[in-house]
Amino acid sequence: MADEVYEIFALKYAHHDRKSSENFLLGDPHDILQPLAYYVWVIRGSEYTILVDTGFDQAMAARRDRTITTTVAYGLEALGVPPDSIEDIIITHLHYDHCGNYALFPRARYHIQDSEMAYATGRYMCHPMMRIPFESDDVVAMVRNVFAGRVVFHDGDDEIAPGVSVHRIGGHSKGLQCVRVQTKRGAVVLASDTSHLYAHVNEGRVYPVTYNVAEVVEGYRTLARLAASPDHIVPGHDPAVLELYPPASPELAGIAARLDLAPKPVGSLHASV
Ligand SMILES: [Zn+2]
Ligand SMILES: [Zn+2]
Repeated sequence: MADEVYEIFALKYAHHDRKSSENFLLGDPHDILQPLAYYVWVIRGSEYTILVDTGFDQAMAARRDRTITTTVAYGLEALGVPPDSIEDIIITHLHYDHCGNYALFPRARYHIQDSEMAYATGRYMCHPMMRIPFESDDVVAMVRNVFAGRVVFHDGDDEIAPGVSVHRIGGHSKGLQCVRVQTKRGAVVLASDTSHLYAHVNEGRVYPVTYNVAEVVEGYRTLARLAASPDHIVPGHDPAVLELYPPASPELAGIAARLDLAPKPVGSLHASV
């Protein structure tokens, strides 16, 4: 285990109101309002600052009928991490809500799984159904980054910095990876879309956009193995993250939370979902 420990910030930049039935394969009997939140994550240590995912911009929000709540650029500046200073970005997968805003990051190297790049540029993108969550401009931008020498490929488990590692889980997208980060409270796992909501990992349910259902549910075991406890798994789109974890600062309440500090018990908010 590495000695290096990190602070982690979840920065919410967008929101989408929807019914719970839209969030689960086979639907949801409650059929209640269950919005999604959209996040990027900042990992900050004494030597390394790493961004996880880059979100989308206002134009994409309009195109996809989402609501920007805070621009990624504003949020990163408010956290003391100017976007043009960032040198390492982990892209968990190439869905539109995880890899836009690339003009903000002129100095960055992108860390991505081999299988995600192959998937997003290969034969399955011939099928309209499979390319729904992808944007060709985003994928082309990443191809240009490859040719500019700005992409670092990973295959399975790999270390990005001491105490920060990526782990391919697949499932929701073929090369989807989660991120494990050593903190003072132990190993925290940024699940990204390996578990959109707490309900997915906690109840073994599956989000409808899926490359491989078996890998999704198997992935929940991998998350549990990688994290110090269930309270160390941070889902990728759950609005409750900002309620469970302390705000990054009083001014950033409802915008950014500290994931390296202990959360309130998950059950306190999720009994009704
Ligand atoms: Zn996704
Ligand atoms: Zn997503």
